[in-house]
Amino acid sequence: MEKQTEMIRVQNLKKSFGKVEVLKDVTLQVGKGEVVVLIGASGSGKSTLIRCINFLEIKDGGEIYIEGKSIDPKKDDLTKVRQKVGMVFQHFNLFPHKTVLENIMEAPLIAKKADKEATKQEALRLLQKVGLSEKADVYPASLSGGQKQRVAIARSLAMKPEIMLFDEPTSALDPELVGEVLETMKQLAQEGMTMIIVTHEMGFAKEVADWVAFMNQGKIIEMARPQEIFNNPKEERTREFLNRVL
Ligand code: ADP
Ligand code: MG
Repeated sequence: MEKQTEMIRVQNLKKSFGKVEVLKDVTLQVGKGEVVVLIGASGSGKSTLIRCINFLEIKDGGEIYIEGKSIDPKKDDLTKVRQKVGMVFQHFNLFPHKTVLENIMEAPLIAKKADKEATKQEALRLLQKVGLSEKADVYPASLSGGQKQRVAIARSLAMKPEIMLFDEPTSALDPELVGEVLETMKQLAQEGMTMIIVTHEMGFAKEVADWVAFMNQGKIIEMARPQEIFNNPKEERTREFLNRVL
């Protein structure tokens, strides 16, 4: 098999908060265009792991390579790293006093000092991509939760990231709004975006993930093809978790 371009490599990652060791020894590799769905019980360290990959949390030990380069939070420009590694959270935090279009244009205009007209055209293209062209000039307050989350995804894409991290992007949504956000992520996956997605949507994991990683008490204890994880998990703890959630 041809060797894939490595986009993310996490090696022996450790992270504690005070005395609590939250990430014990996490190793994970993600190739270009791969979708990894990260599952596991609440408190197992999923958010901390992806926040470390985006350097919102700073690791205590181990290495994080982005596109083959080990990132040293003390020396490297983390703003640049975060442009490459976009992140979407459970709560969308759109700027309430800016229109949808202005929300999407904000970061590229500030961070990249980009041309305003070009940025606007790109923002409109992204809005079309997430199916919200008609909402360009409205304020976030008038959007549904699902629409807000799709704007948040477009806003993150405006920085032209190579990698997207999602932390339970549908957990705060009413059930009937979950599908449209999953559909947007599925479309991104089909376009070849490299993604790590924390979600409890097992149907989505089955359909879209290249790999499913099961996290338990600060470690990834099993990572396999979705079919393997869901039909034939190797670890007893994976089986127990899936029995509880499926
Ligand atoms: P998950 O996303 O899988 O639910 P988290 O990564 O959010 O897990 O949390 C893992 C553990 O780390 C939990 O016990 C949580 O209380 C703790 N934790 C997370 N963030 C912090 C923080 N900023 N300060 C102290 N403890 C934290
Ligand atoms: Mg979490």
